[in-house]
Amino acid sequence: MKGYINIPQTIYCKRCKECGARPVVAPVSDIGYVVKCSNDDRHYQTVAGLIDIDDWNQHNSVTRPAAKFSLVPVIAW
Ligand SMILES: [Zn+2]
Repeated sequence: MKGYINIPQTIYCKRCKECGARPVVAPVSDIGYVVKCSNDDRHYQTVAGLIDIDDWNQHNSVTRPAAKFSLVPVIAW
């Protein structure tokens, strides 16, 4: 069963560096969630667990930002 959750526009997140798609959150059985490319599972996805948009952003940055955003979003689904 595929139940993707779109990340609200109000949450800062990078687009996939490979194809430019906005990421989605996908549940992984009992483990938690991954943040992944909405187009292709082979593109970067975070380790299953907590929703880690920060990790997604870091891996989809071409240049590292000088100041690290610690923008841990409070998500109320
Ligand atoms: Zn992609």
